[in-house]
Amino acid sequence: MPDARDELDWMVRTQLEPRGIFDARVLEAMRTIDRRRFVPEAHGSLAYDDNPLPIGEGQTISQPYMVAVMTQSLDLRGPQRILEIGTGSGYQTAVLARLGGEVYTVECRPALLEKARAVLDSMGFKNVHYRAGDGRRGWPEASPFDRILCAAAAADVPQAWLDQLADGGILLVPVGGAEGQVLVKVANRGGRLVRTEFCPCRFVPLVGEGDDACS
Ligand code: SAH
Repeated sequence: MPDARDELDWMVRTQLEPRGIFDARVLEAMRTIDRRRFVPEAHGSLAYDDNPLPIGEGQTISQPYMVAVMTQSLDLRGPQRILEIGTGSGYQTAVLARLGGEVYTVECRPALLEKARAVLDSMGFKNVHYRAGDGRRGWPEASPFDRILCAAAAADVPQAWLDQLADGGILLVPVGGAEGQVLVKVANRGGRLVRTEFCPCRFVPLVGEGDDACS
């Protein structure tokens, strides 16, 4: 594989820095984790573009900018416990694992989870825990979480996630349907849940009850 340093540098300089990504640790993580490793071979030449890309099973790897916005908004520092719903390609997982403590990632499509696990293992990540299943239930045995991130659009925030969010914790999830979604942030301040909406976005839907992909 060609050395991707120039491409990654270009991605950060043209797509992230000019759009308000200022956290040096996030920029550094995105400059060093090669997105191409998470993209199917056939789309390799598009790996550094400003777009989501297909990863199989009708799912997509998130746009680099979206990964950066969400990661920056999580304000990761120290040994935080992070729950990620929607592993997908594992790209966002890698960025979280580089910056956070322990990452618990749940994916309802087992084939995608195994592919992501193989890539993350090959990159040496030891602080990622994997589960195949319905992420709407969260991961009760590993809770509470300091950060919860969902990479698929929910009709509303599942109660299980709110129950598993630690005091001082932050939860991020796109809320809405195919017609439009907004990124919602919920902060747990001493048991008081403060909800803010902060940018329009577009994610694949969170699979729900009665959906074959998740049963
Ligand atoms: N950040 C990921 C984006 C993956 S797309 C990346 O950059 O690759 C969203 C993922 O959420 C898909 O892989 C989809 O299968 C998964 N998903 C959808 N509903 C889910 C659910 N209820 N539980 C767990 N994963 C779910």
